[in-house]
Amino acid sequence: MNYIVFDLEWNQSPSGKAAEQSIMPFEIIQIGAVKLDENFEEQGEFSAYIIPVAYRKLHRKVSEILGVTMDDLYEQGRPFSEVCGDFLEWCGEDYIFCTWGSMDLTELQRNMAYHNVENNLPKPLLYYDLQKLYSLEYQDGKARSTLQHAIEELNIVQDEDYHMADSDARYTAKVLGRLSMDRFGKFYSVDTYRIPSSRKEEYHLDFGNYEKYISKGFAKRETAAADREVRSCMCFKCHKPMKRLIKWFATNSKTYYGLFMCEEHGLVKGRFKVKQTDDDKNYAVRILKLTDEEGAEKIRLRQVKEREHRRAARKKHSAAGKAE
Ligand SMILES: [Zn+2]
Repeated sequence: MNYIVFDLEWNQSPSGKAAEQSIMPFEIIQIGAVKLDENFEEQGEFSAYIIPVAYRKLHRKVSEILGVTMDDLYEQGRPFSEVCGDFLEWCGEDYIFCTWGSMDLTELQRNMAYHNVENNLPKPLLYYDLQKLYSLEYQDGKARSTLQHAIEELNIVQDEDYHMADSDARYTAKVLGRLSMDRFGKFYSVDTYRIPSSRKEEYHLDFGNYEKYISKGFAKRETAAADREVRSCMCFKCHKPMKRLIKWFATNSKTYYGLFMCEEHGLVKGRFKVKQTDDDKNYAVRILKLTDEEGAEKIRLRQVKEREHRRAARKKHSAAGKAE
């Protein structure tokens, strides 16, 4: 299997939100990629400019950091559908995408949809978010640093400019070369630009001590949040029903939490959030994770805090009612 480390540069509406095309806020203008084999040996590079069609001027911020001008794009670029087709063909058959951060695959697919390029990428679309893996190995797992910061921390020679898709892809590939993929390679990410189209297709990704679940889409947010599968209390390890210690409850930030107990696997904490796709479908992203007393206590405290918050809100509401 090959690693396709890729990076995109994109432009956005130069005159702000009003002139933005909502189905494609970010128009890809460059694709850069490095192909590595399973031993992390470089097998080739891909680099191409794209002629923009949605936004014909560079946004001020983009032109400040990007080492390319509109003239370059018109002179050296090719249409998106052509470049994208070449890129996907260059990727080959057996590969996994690697990107710095979680945005590139979504933006690639948004641009594909805009240009009516058929989306034959696998479902679920698994990839490595190297920014996340870098954090897991070298930081606390939650921090997200810039590519340049990672390059500096790893003492990798900085011999070219950043913010060009080809050079950033090369730098990202160098970071990949420094990651212990034997340890962290199990922590792949899943792109949710396309969500499961049916119950049968729903994603259950097992990462050992936790499971990530992506539901199918629902017309309404409330239906997604109330769905029996989303709220399932089955242990993700043994698939037996768990005891509900704390039923799913929502917080202010619209995240749901729950606490469960499996006879065999012990305490399991749950968290889910309802998100929305580009075509307004609502789907849940849920994590069930093995935990201990300390982790359970955090969920209990969260519930207490949420109840206090609601009580305070009710009081305020009734006080306001009396004042009227
Ligand atoms: Zn179990």
